[in-house]
Amino acid sequence: QRASGEEIVKDYTLEPEHELRFEVDFGTTVKLKLISGTAEIFGTEIGIAPEYEFTGRKVAVFTWRGTCSVEYVATETPMVSYLNMHLALEQLREQAKITNKQGPRVLIVGPEDVGKTSLSKILLSYALRQSHNPIFIDLDPNEGTITMPGTLSATSITHIIDVEEGFGSSATTAPSMGSTTLPLVYYYGYADSGENLKLFKMLTSQLAKVVKARIDEDANARVSGLVIDTNGLTDNTGYEIIQHCVELFYVNIIIVLGHERLYSDMDRLYNDNNDVTVLKLLKSGGVVDRDNSFRRQLQMRKIREYFYGTPKCELSPYSTIINFHDFSIYRVGVGSLAPSSALPIGIDRKVSETQLVKVEPDDSLSHSIVAISASETSDEVQLLEANILGFIYVTEVDTAKHKMTVLSPCPGRLPNQFLLVGSFKWMES
Ligand code: ADP
Repeated sequence: QRASGEEIVKDYTLEPEHELRFEVDFGTTVKLKLISGTAEIFGTEIGIAPEYEFTGRKVAVFTWRGTCSVEYVATETPMVSYLNMHLALEQLREQAKITNKQGPRVLIVGPEDVGKTSLSKILLSYALRQSHNPIFIDLDPNEGTITMPGTLSATSITHIIDVEEGFGSSATTAPSMGSTTLPLVYYYGYADSGENLKLFKMLTSQLAKVVKARIDEDANARVSGLVIDTNGLTDNTGYEIIQHCVELFYVNIIIVLGHERLYSDMDRLYNDNNDVTVLKLLKSGGVVDRDNSFRRQLQMRKIREYFYGTPKCELSPYSTIINFHDFSIYRVGVGSLAPSSALPIGIDRKVSETQLVKVEPDDSLSHSIVAISASETSDEVQLLEANILGFIYVTEVDTAKHKMTVLSPCPGRLPNQFLLVGSFKWMES
């Protein structure tokens, strides 16, 4: 359905191992119905009866067993190599069962828009279809695949990944286990992993500690292994992040997607390390570059969905008024937006990167996304390393009355008084 309301209906028949690709702009809707046979979207099988709806998405419908060919469909897809990758990972999981060791720890790297997140979904869905529950570690703060942009998270994949809604729906229902409840979310507050490297490293180290604890107590998670998604890491900072992640999560397989130089650099770097295998996989011809405006719209949709839900599962957020003395808001990184020369004397950038600054609420806080920390004290280290309980949105700040109006997914008081603000703003429309 076009934005003008006009409806166009098209039929496609797919041959085996062919892919139907379509791009849906924001404001336009595509409905998809499988009439016969079998097909999947990024690893999740679609059913024959239901109608799937997409807006603001780029989608590939793939079939392993089609019938005959008509019209425009992609014949060259790297899906066979992705399936082979999965089969190799399954072998490692089977071996891990026998030896009671850890299953594969996979790190997916490459530039932006090469299909890293799509490959993560495919590998996780295939593992789930074989009764494994790998942990998905999302280190791409740009998209906020699990909850909100600006977050870093770990999720146990126990439910199929929804073809219309992505990870969101599978994440919220994951069960808790002992002391480590997943999904586990940390608030980094920036869209780019290199923007505040020190904080990024600190939070990923914390995430890795909890994931390790989970793996130690959950045999299924241990055998199923990890899939780690990243954002574009192709410069020096990116290399530093990759090495940091390899150490933290005991990565034993690095998949480089669509970048020859990154592949040869990684191959050289880990040449002497028998514990790490570097592999390259081809980028799918269907992966499309998303320009800044599309990315921004994706982020805004993700934020909106956090409060209002999706068409399939709508939520009604609560507008609440909170008093300034009931909470403390902190921003991470002194002068995170200021050049080094503008920092107070005696504070260098490295130190300032993870310094907490108390924010006095005023108008500039309006429209900000604010994370509610799980920290029990205002101790700087605890606040930096605590995970996130949820988010609120600042609708209005009334400095005269010392009150702030916020939008929250739950009614009543805030679950904690310590709040963190990052660089994300949103205009409710
Ligand atoms: P990355 O994580 O590397 O930035 P993504 O996996 O998010 O890349 O893919 C970028 C965009 O391309 C996404 O909108 C995704 O849905 C789309 N996409 C990925 N693979 C395909 C494909 N085979 N056909 C059509 N669109 C695709």
